[in-house]
Amino acid sequence: MTTQFCQCLLPGFNLLRLEHEEIDTENYHITVNVSSTQTLVQCPLCAYPTTRIHSRYERTLLDLPCVNYSLTLVMQVCKFFCDNADCIRRVFTERIPEVTTPWGRKTRRLGQKLQIIGLALGGAAGAHLCHQIGIVACGSTLLNHLKKISLPEFAVPKILGVDDFAFCKGQRYGTILVDLERNQPIALLADRKAETLTDWLMQHPGVEILSRDRSKTYKSAMDKGAPAAIQVADRFHLVQNLEETLEKVFSSYGNELKAVEQQQRQTSASTGMVVVTPKPTTTGVVKGWGSVCVLEE
Ligand SMILES: [Zn+2]
Repeated sequence: MTTQFCQCLLPGFNLLRLEHEEIDTENYHITVNVSSTQTLVQCPLCAYPTTRIHSRYERTLLDLPCVNYSLTLVMQVCKFFCDNADCIRRVFTERIPEVTTPWGRKTRRLGQKLQIIGLALGGAAGAHLCHQIGIVACGSTLLNHLKKISLPEFAVPKILGVDDFAFCKGQRYGTILVDLERNQPIALLADRKAETLTDWLMQHPGVEILSRDRSKTYKSAMDKGAPAAIQVADRFHLVQNLEETLEKVFSSYGNELKAVEQQQRQTSASTGMVVVTPKPTTTGVVKGWGSVCVLEE
């Protein structure tokens, strides 16, 4: 490989100069030594430009694997003086955001790939895949990279679905908010307290229809946070309520139902008729969200 070709493979290749590389064929590892080419930088605190170098030091960064070799960048960077008399920072390390974050131990491009893997597979399965393709990353590393992803901007929806969800089933619950026109979750609230939902609704005015379960907590939150919005019961909870009610009713008539079934069997045995029990259909299965009735509580 030519030096020019290797140079092009570096992250932020126009900001780094390739010094030399070492290839460990026994352990399938490449170490690439590079140095920053920046001569004019800005203080990260006051943005004052400076060229005055205080000292140099090395940062070690894990990078994307190269073919079947793992890759480490040893990057020489500079510490600069801040010459702004009004700034409290006297010396600072130059930033190269195209390559890595301050105090980062991985290159930015490796971090981006870890986020993609983490989004697709989560912690444990993602870590397994990383091991297969020569990236050293455990499950918690992948999850930490996911937490760095900034949340997308969203427009306040006209129709908002509100429901609780479990961070840890039986122990800790939060509230999920879903844009029902786009079928898109837009926020997760840390708990399912009325005040938390009220605050969110007051900070995001404009919701016209609120879909919820029949709990009084969310009702009071919506009454306070979005008094002008119409509250409706969502289809899932209506069907769930119906199912629970029917189960109670049929349970309370257990003896009578058994008697009817026994009577039917005796009749069919004496007449030779076959009693056909209808098979349950799947049309009663409700998936997703849907608003079907206005609550009048
Ligand atoms: Zn400064």
